[in-house]
Amino acid sequence: MSTIYQVEHLHQQRGWLSPGYIEIGDDGIIRAVSGTKPQGKIAERLRGFGVPGLSNLHSHAFQRALAGRTEFVTTSRAEDNLWTWRKEMYRMVDRLTPEDYEAIAAQVYLEMLQFGMTAVCEFHYVHHRPDGQTYANPAEMSDRLIAAAAQTGLGLTILPVLYAHGGINKPLEETQKRFAHSVDAYLKLIDTLHSRRAANPNLRVGMALHSLRAVTPDEAQAALAGAKAIDPEARLHIHVSETTHEVAEVVAGLGARPVQWLLDNAGLGPNWCLVHATHLDASEIAGLAASGAVAGLCPLTEATMGDGFFPLVEYHEAGGAFGIGTDSHYSTSTAEELRILECGKRLELRRRNVIARPHKAHDKREVHTGRLLFEAALAGGEQASAQGSGALVVGKRGDLVMLDPDSNPLLGHGPNTALDGWILGGTQNPVRDVMVAGKWVIRDGRHPLESAVRVAYQQAMARLTN
Ligand SMILES: [Zn+2]
Repeated sequence: MSTIYQVEHLHQQRGWLSPGYIEIGDDGIIRAVSGTKPQGKIAERLRGFGVPGLSNLHSHAFQRALAGRTEFVTTSRAEDNLWTWRKEMYRMVDRLTPEDYEAIAAQVYLEMLQFGMTAVCEFHYVHHRPDGQTYANPAEMSDRLIAAAAQTGLGLTILPVLYAHGGINKPLEETQKRFAHSVDAYLKLIDTLHSRRAANPNLRVGMALHSLRAVTPDEAQAALAGAKAIDPEARLHIHVSETTHEVAEVVAGLGARPVQWLLDNAGLGPNWCLVHATHLDASEIAGLAASGAVAGLCPLTEATMGDGFFPLVEYHEAGGAFGIGTDSHYSTSTAEELRILECGKRLELRRRNVIARPHKAHDKREVHTGRLLFEAALAGGEQASAQGSGALVVGKRGDLVMLDPDSNPLLGHGPNTALDGWILGGTQNPVRDVMVAGKWVIRDGRHPLESAVRVAYQQAMARLTN
């Protein structure tokens, strides 16, 4: 069995089908896409712009509970940066229960769906009890994230994080004891999470090294080899070069800048996602772009932390792949994340449309910035998450996002400029309906469990902030 939809404007990698017919099987996979109505079949009509669901490539779900709670200074924190923020974050980690972890994740996962994201890569490092002991179920906290994703209907690529040191040649700090694993225990967790896939068809399992500060080269090598033995296709994520402080520490400890060290020692390729990669020199830009790895940009989080600005234009011109993550969830909006990337560069470079480049002289077609940014993020998100979505073509998962042509940002727009209208042209969220694997999870902007998820989140917040 399958369902056919007639979409007023259906996004394709080369333009739009207006209308487009898309057939999605009961297994959630796209069976057919066409500009003509299949003979003798009834199609449900959908008004507006149908685009693929986006994979958010970087999230620490629990940090949603901290967004907007650290926006002040005191005499003891007059100079505020990522490292002073981290102290506040650790204070929250110390109090998080498994119930809180699940409730916060469900809230932020639902928010992602409402903004047209249909999957998330969860960079998950709070593994153990507050005293550092393993839970009776060693995968307790991972299972809470899986439950939150299943409850809300969001695809999940879970990335258990190996976190073994508090800095290069430094033991873990007392506040980091919930994160620690031996490489063996870590690989056992990955193995356990693979066993959860049978009951969760939209679950993928990858691996993550917290950073070059948090694992030794030997640990990294052992973990990567073990993870590849479990799954040769596993996606590999790492935080890298987020701050100049981190770059200096890695240069002093390992003898090379962080991205250069990974290029020289880690075998970077398309299965890698380097999260942030903010501070790159010219040879790192060229090397990272040529490696085929994805740069995992988290624009609003990087802005709120005062990290610095990724060299987007140079990296894009070198052919580098990138996607977007919402990291600490100051935003869960696709448009807001992409807009700050483009508009931040416009402020810096004092010109417009900085990432788009015209076609060759004889090709007069317009190159649209909103479309270019969205499609880059779609491709990078899919590459980093391995969800099997990211395009409305046969064989991909049926993740369809309908943008409302009656929403303020899209009034008066046709297919030519609709993605510019969404990404760059307004503040209201135009996402009306969201389908994941052939099932509607958001209709008219609402999720059926929205109230229950909010109540559980409010209760978790009350516990964490009293
Ligand atoms: Zn992160």
